[in-house]
Order: sequence, then structure tokens, then C-alpha cells
Amino acid sequence: AREKGNTGLRRFDAEIAEKVERRKQLGLRVRQAVARQEFEAFFQPVVSHEHHIVGAEALLRWQTADAPGPAEFVPFLEEQGLIREVGRQILYDVIHKAARWRQEQPAFQSISVNVSPVQLREEAFVSHVSSALEKSGLPAGCLILEITESLYIQAEQVVLDRLSRLRDMGVKLALDDFGTGYSALSYLQWMPLDILKIDKSFVLKLEQGCERDITIVRAIIQIARACGLSVTAEGVESAEVARVMRELGAHCLQGYHFSRPLSESAMTALLHSVTAS
Ligand code: C2E
Ligand code: CA
Ligand code: CA
Ligand code: CA
Repeated sequence: AREKGNTGLRRFDAEIAEKVERRKQLGLRVRQAVARQEFEAFFQPVVSHEHHIVGAEALLRWQTADAPGPAEFVPFLEEQGLIREVGRQILYDVIHKAARWRQEQPAFQSISVNVSPVQLREEAFVSHVSSALEKSGLPAGCLILEITESLYIQAEQVVLDRLSRLRDMGVKLALDDFGTGYSALSYLQWMPLDILKIDKSFVLKLEQGCERDITIVRAIIQIARACGLSVTAEGVESAEVARVMRELGAHCLQGYHFSRPLSESAMTALLHSVTAS
């Protein structure tokens, strides 16, 4: 038995060693990818009640063979502080593309960009946003910054001031992944906000039609509306869930049922096809 235990331990050690090695490799590859600017934004359409495309969320992609998804590499970029550089470049890029889409398709009202707490801690973040808006000609009200509730942003005066300045400029603020993180309700108390995004973990569950899941989502939407917020549901994968979300009072919907995240050219083509029809 003792020997067996030992083998188990050795296997465990080997697993940890492998994990550490994989992380090291990923670290090297990510740093190289930043230098080579291998990151780009994809765009997932956001639709209105009537299923018109009213905007899109920019989602980071690493365009290289067998690259991991953002859920894996974004935390790494954050840890290394690299998200500041990548995030700034993506923000600039995406704002310019949105300005063009808005000219071509007037129904296209807003572009959502995910912002890391690491970026919010940066002194120059607000001026990066305002100069990108100015250069592109995109009205501030067409930019939505999505902020995830996390341990790293709390009711701190500097962060609060920064968010308030962005909002005073007219930029819209969305609370992302609502309900999944750390003391969700307290964010509603201190954060200046315009939009609440219901996390896909709640929306995906609606597929099964369980009454309790519906009750939870209904309550979230009621809280949001009572706070004067607009509600966007992510992770809508079926017509049935789209119908339920609409009935429960969500303002905007997003998910594979409407479209997967698209490359810039595919998004442009989609907008053109809508304009043409
Ligand atoms: P998120 O902000 O919650 O983004 C929504 C995620 O759900 C995206 O995953 C999207 O592709 C996926 N999704 C959309 N519709 C559906 C659906 O109908 N069903 C399912 N199952 N999933 C759906 P993705 O692109 O892998 O991004 C993962 C996370 O990485 C994002 O979660 C966000 O937290 C982070 N992220 C992505 N891009 C950026 C970025 O530019 N900056 C920062 N800081 N974080 C980013
Ligand atoms: Ca998001
Ligand atoms: Ca998120
Ligand atoms: Ca989410």
C-alpha cells in the first residue's frame, strides 16, 4: 500500500511539473505574440428585441495555430501587465472600426469592449479612451466599456473617479458577468453604471425550462430595471431562450443563436447584407 501511495505522489508531482512547464511555455509564447501583435478583435453581434443588430462586443482572439482562448490567455496578460498594451491597441482599433460601421449602417449604435481591472488602474486610461474617440470621430455614447466584477476592483476612490470621468464624457459602462463573482449587489451600490449583463451561466440554464432558474433571471432583471439599468443577456443559444429573455424584459440579446463572434470582414459583410435587404 505504501509503495502504491508513493507512485501516486510521484504521478502527482509529475502532473504539477507538467503544469508549471506548460505555463512557462505559454508565458514565452504570449510575450512573443504581444511583440508580434498577433492579437486581434472578433465581433459578436448584439441584437435588439426585434432582432436587429444594434451593436457588437469585441472579443480578443489570438490568431495562431492551437492558440488558447481568451479565458486562458487574458489572465496571463493581466498577470504580466501586458493587458495594458494589448488592451490599448485593441481599444483603438475597435473604436475606429465601429466608427466606420456606424457610418455604413445607422442602426449600428454601439461597440462593447471588455476592460480589465489592470487597465482601470492605469492613470492614462481615461485619456487613451478620449483620444481614440476623438481621432475616430465615434461619439462617446457609442462606446460601452464592460467591466467584470472582481476582487480587483472595489469601491476605491481612484477607480470610482476614473469611471465617473468616463461616464461624464458620455461613455456607457456595463457590469459584466453579473452574479458570478464577488458580492455582485455591492457593485450596483457604488459603481456608476448604464448596463447590466446577465452572465451566460444563468442564460444557458434557461434551456431546461426550470422554474427556479427563470425566477432568478427574472429577479436579476427586476433589480437592474429598478436601478434604471438596461439589461443585456449573453449566451442566448436558442430561439426559445431568446423568447423567454425577451418576455422577462431583457433589452438586448447576444449569443450563438444570432451569431458566433465574427472576424472583422465577416462582421462588415453581415452589416452590408442587412443594409442591402
Ligand atoms: P465575456 O466578456 O463574458 O464574453 C462572453 C463569452 O461568451 C465569449 O467567450 C463569447 O465568445 C462567449 N459566447 C458568446 N455567445 C455564446 C453562446 O451563445 N454560448 C456560449 N456557450 N458562449 C457564448 P470568449 O470570446 O472565449 O471570451 C472569454 C472571456 O475572455 C470574456 O468573457 C472576457 O472576460 C475575456 N475577454 C475577451 N476579450 C477580452 C478583451 O479584449 N479584454 C479583456 N480584458 N478580456 C477579454
Ligand atoms: Ca464581456
Ligand atoms: Ca467577462
Ligand atoms: Ca460572461
